[in-house]
Amino acid sequence: MRLSTPHDRPDHGWSVAHHHRRDTTSMRVTHGLPLAGKTTLGIGGPAAVFADLQDLADFPEFVALADAFPGAPTCLGAGSNALVADAGCSSPVLRMNTRGVRFVGEAADGRTLVEVQAGHPLSDLVDTSVGHGLIGMEMLAGIPGTVGATPVQNVGAYGQEISDMLVEVRAWDWVSRRHVTLDAATCGLGHRTSVFKGSDRWTLLTVVFALRKSALSAPVTYRAVAERLDVSVGSRVPSDEAVQAVLAVRRGKGMVLGCSDADRRTVGSVFFSPEVTSAQARWLQDEGASINRFPDGTSRVSASWLMRRAGFALGSQVAERVRVSYLHHTLVADEGASSAGFTEAIGIVVQRVLEHTGIRLKPEVDFLGDWP
Ligand SMILES: Cc1cc2nc3c(=O)[nH]c(=O)nc-3n(C[C@H](O)[C@H](O)[C@H](O)COP(=O)(O)OP(=O)(O)OC[C@H]3O[C@@H](n4cnc5c(N)ncnc54)[C@H](O)[C@@H]3O)c2cc1C
Repeated sequence: MRLSTPHDRPDHGWSVAHHHRRDTTSMRVTHGLPLAGKTTLGIGGPAAVFADLQDLADFPEFVALADAFPGAPTCLGAGSNALVADAGCSSPVLRMNTRGVRFVGEAADGRTLVEVQAGHPLSDLVDTSVGHGLIGMEMLAGIPGTVGATPVQNVGAYGQEISDMLVEVRAWDWVSRRHVTLDAATCGLGHRTSVFKGSDRWTLLTVVFALRKSALSAPVTYRAVAERLDVSVGSRVPSDEAVQAVLAVRRGKGMVLGCSDADRRTVGSVFFSPEVTSAQARWLQDEGASINRFPDGTSRVSASWLMRRAGFALGSQVAERVRVSYLHHTLVADEGASSAGFTEAIGIVVQRVLEHTGIRLKPEVDFLGDWP
């Protein structure tokens, strides 16, 4: 589906985005900035050039700056899925810090179209949409990061994912060197993946979603959320109550940033939930694992369950200054951790889970910067 251009489209209600001519730039460029402070893991060496983009109107300036370097630049949102190399990043780093949400019309199926700037916090978009009686992303409450990063790994949780609501993205294509509009089908969204995952070809600038008008949430499909709400699986509840229940369940697992001081250096899940065959699923269920079925038709076991099964205890040290979270079976960093230590810990977990279960975990975290 194609939308009209920003110039011929009326604003519907709220608008925070500003596209106007400017005589000065708001893009802040820094040299040698340590990237550790720009990621939730707190790991990573310096960026040769770090540009903080607050206004999309300044993007051409970043393109001009990046042209002085070989290869494509590196894009960073809130750094909540990023493991940056200790050596830092020799390509220019673009931090997407643009904000803005606009109603831009109605889709053919009656859903409301919402256009969002790439740097806009996802949590704010969830709150804003629920506040305006729109559903579709209420189960994504508590996921940190920016909207521009959400198509990259088809962000999802508790039965909802970006592919349910994505209409199109507008991006800069560093190969063809022009602005492009990619519809949802072209984005190739799968389970925590897309054409953007692991690729530096595109910088996503704005994202358009279609959200349904309703005061009630989508059906609650996860037992833990249903239990928290004291309703049966499949029930629909006021969407703000669904948000609160999801947040409570996530906090219990340390999956909301800032909910646990000790485990604050986190990227959430470090590993993908691996796909399992029906024979493996039967064996895992007999062993007590819960198997979740995903919209792409795959059955998957949680990486956390596999880590527990492989004998990793909560809070246990895995590599230097890298350990299992106190609340959930995932890796977190302690003060002074390095990317070398974190990758060593990833390797140890992959190996031990393979030995204990025959299943090979793959990292979900994105490796950014100059790796040996
Ligand atoms: C506590 C916690 C819980 C989490 N829970 C979940 C969850 O439930 N489900 C889930 O799916 N994820 C989860 N995550 C992972 C993470 O929040 C998401 O992947 C999020 O979308 C990352 O957004 P970000 O802005 O921080 O991206 P970053 O970490 O900054 O970047 C991630 C990747 O996207 C690329 N990127 C970022 N912005 C752009 C852009 N504008 N254009 C092109 N590429 C871009 C980067 O280059 C990088 O490869 C969790 C993380 C944490 C810390």
